[in-house]
Amino acid sequence: MKPLIDCHNHSVHSFDGHQTVETLIRNAEAIGLSVLAITDHSDLSPEVYPKEQIVTTVCGSVDEVKRWRAEHDSPVKILTGFELGEPIDYPELAEEMLALREVDMVLGSIHEGSNGRDFYYMDCKNEPVEYLMGMIHDYYDRLIRLVEWGRFDVLTHITYPLRYVMGDAGIPVDMEQFREKIDTILKGIIEKGISLEINTSGLRQKIGQTLPGKDILTRYYELGGRMITIGSDSHREEHFAYGIPEVQEMLKEIGFTELTYFEERKPKTIAL
Ligand SMILES: [Zn+2]
Ligand SMILES: [Zn+2]
Repeated sequence: MKPLIDCHNHSVHSFDGHQTVETLIRNAEAIGLSVLAITDHSDLSPEVYPKEQIVTTVCGSVDEVKRWRAEHDSPVKILTGFELGEPIDYPELAEEMLALREVDMVLGSIHEGSNGRDFYYMDCKNEPVEYLMGMIHDYYDRLIRLVEWGRFDVLTHITYPLRYVMGDAGIPVDMEQFREKIDTILKGIIEKGISLEINTSGLRQKIGQTLPGKDILTRYYELGGRMITIGSDSHREEHFAYGIPEVQEMLKEIGFTELTYFEERKPKTIAL
């Protein structure tokens, strides 16, 4: 099965991106992708990422993609967007970012706890297990608030902490303790018409599974969720579209019949 959509990708406009917009587009064309979204970082943590930096990132990325679209014909549908991190902490800044440019897709993300710590920068091995479980509870409380805020199109990587706690630190996490909170999140996005992302980055990382995994995706389907978006979260060429064909097979097994992407912030589907 050929990969159909990859709607979460970072270019060199992101502080941690290592592939140009042109490389992303050329690679999408080479594998016969139908839909590509370029979604550079807009992380609202002014102490870590100064506002000028995220404005430059988003404007640079969106303007370059729009310029490319105006100047080239491509068999790939190329979409603009950005990944809006922690908007619940800075709602006014989030509105500023949303008003900055007209885009196709806005991804909504949480990477930090309410203590301001991002799992990405933590050495989870050297933190007490209770502290980590407390932080994951807090993470899901923050995702609930993110969904209540709701000014985005796709909810990204909802098992983000597991990438670091289970994957990198090898600490087992019983997800049963978060089940109620995850149900609230899934019901919330279904009600609001927000799509759930299946992020394939975990397949190439120590955790070895998609974010979220098959259990949560199955629960989402049981609850009536049908809007599903695939993203590789690539930051470099070799990770682009990684694992997407196998993920498409898994989604079909669960019962999904189509994938969702957004064009001018309106949902569109493509048959699986
Ligand atoms: Zn992210
Ligand atoms: Zn990302």
